[in-house]
Amino acid sequence: MASIRARITLSFALALTVTLGIVTAAVVAQRRAVAIADLRERGRVISTIAARMVANSSTSDEQTYTLDFTTMKGFGPRMVQTLAALPEYVIVLDSGRVMYRSPSVAALSDSDQTQLLRSAPQITETGLPRVQLATGAALVTDLRNVERVGQSRQVVVAVAMDPVQVATREVVEAMSITGGIILLFSIVLAWWITARIEEIDRMIDDVSAISDGRSLHRRIPVEGGDDEIGRLGVTLNAMIARLETSFAGLRRFTADASHELKTPLTVLRADIERAMTAPARGTEQLVALEEALQETARMADLVESLLTLARADEGRFDLHREPVSVDALARDVAETAHILGESAGLTVSVTSLTPATVMGDRVRLRQLFLNLITNAIKYTARGGRVDVSLETRDGHAVFSVKDTGIGIAGADLPFIFDRFWRVDRARSRSERGGVGLGLAISQWIAQAHGGSITVTSRMGRGSTFSVSIPLAPTEA
Ligand code: ADP
Repeated sequence: MASIRARITLSFALALTVTLGIVTAAVVAQRRAVAIADLRERGRVISTIAARMVANSSTSDEQTYTLDFTTMKGFGPRMVQTLAALPEYVIVLDSGRVMYRSPSVAALSDSDQTQLLRSAPQITETGLPRVQLATGAALVTDLRNVERVGQSRQVVVAVAMDPVQVATREVVEAMSITGGIILLFSIVLAWWITARIEEIDRMIDDVSAISDGRSLHRRIPVEGGDDEIGRLGVTLNAMIARLETSFAGLRRFTADASHELKTPLTVLRADIERAMTAPARGTEQLVALEEALQETARMADLVESLLTLARADEGRFDLHREPVSVDALARDVAETAHILGESAGLTVSVTSLTPATVMGDRVRLRQLFLNLITNAIKYTARGGRVDVSLETRDGHAVFSVKDTGIGIAGADLPFIFDRFWRVDRARSRSERGGVGLGLAISQWIAQAHGGSITVTSRMGRGSTFSVSIPLAPTEA
């Protein structure tokens, strides 16, 4: 299969050739019609003159002679000379017998002369008979009766068709030369314009080289401009960039998940080994088993979180939507926060609680609010404060948790909703027990409810997390 470029150029050349052919045929037909009309006119003029000369001839211009015992009429030398001055083929008949023939007729063979005479009666108003003589094609233009009392004379005139052939040849020659030049020029132009199409070929090679999975860092060179091919290159590059990001994210996620699962498993194994060793008994055994239990619970939490995110990614998570009174939910969560805060030496207070209802999943919303509150408590030192509030703003219920904790650096803020992301990876797990999935899940829950989470924070001063969820239609 030829390339698109070759096919476009070929189709272009073909279309142009056909067009030129049609134009040439039309011009030829028109020129022929004009030339034939000219010939007809010429023939008429000649026959008018010949007829007048014959009509005006006197008896002294004529002579009679006998041929095969038949008396025939002819013109005398003076008249013959005068008639011979007329061009083309001229024949004068007397009662159907040839009385005079011009030199060009005399030069024809007998059969050609007979042909001319036989075709003469076929002349009609619209069509003239055409005869093929040894000297070339001729058009029989006239069969005219000469008006003279007592005589039955006719003048037959035929003209050579050479001018028609010349006209046709001229048009064909002129069109072949100019048409050829136009065609050649157009082919070169089409080939040149479609040169860009070849780039698609190169792009195909580049993309297949890149898409093996290991070369996603490479990009297709995009040369020249903002035409369709340029835009295709830019679009493909953007797609490869997105693929690269999601591949990298996937790899990181798998590595992080395996790492996070490996650590508790190692601890669990050590605890079990400790509990099983011979000298261990009594309290020592209990301590080891308790630690193992804690690790198991932590691991179960982690697996649960991973499962939630995996299902969310797949879009397989059905939210059980129902009207949820978020002020009641916030109050409930604040009570839990109170207990947690007390044991962490913090003051947890509810600063405002505006009644609001949203269409949502009660369990997930509770998980989201609790995540934010436990984070606030986790990352705030003893003696600090955590303020919880619920307000309605612009058709949304806004739940905020404000703490006076360690805060988050501006540079870290863009990443805190990423999976497995922690400000201090080394310490967080051991000291505060988080794996960095809480905020990722919280964000998913907020977005699944058509809402969002925002955060403002200052290092050492504390952070404020705000969740905004659209109010139920009736409330809004
Ligand atoms: P984790 O389980 O580690 O708490 P999260 O996804 O909930 O994971 O939080 C991600 C990171 O964001 C935390 O490790 C912590 O560094 C930071 N962070 C979250 N909430 C707060 C907060 N209220 N104050 C300070 N840092 C916070």
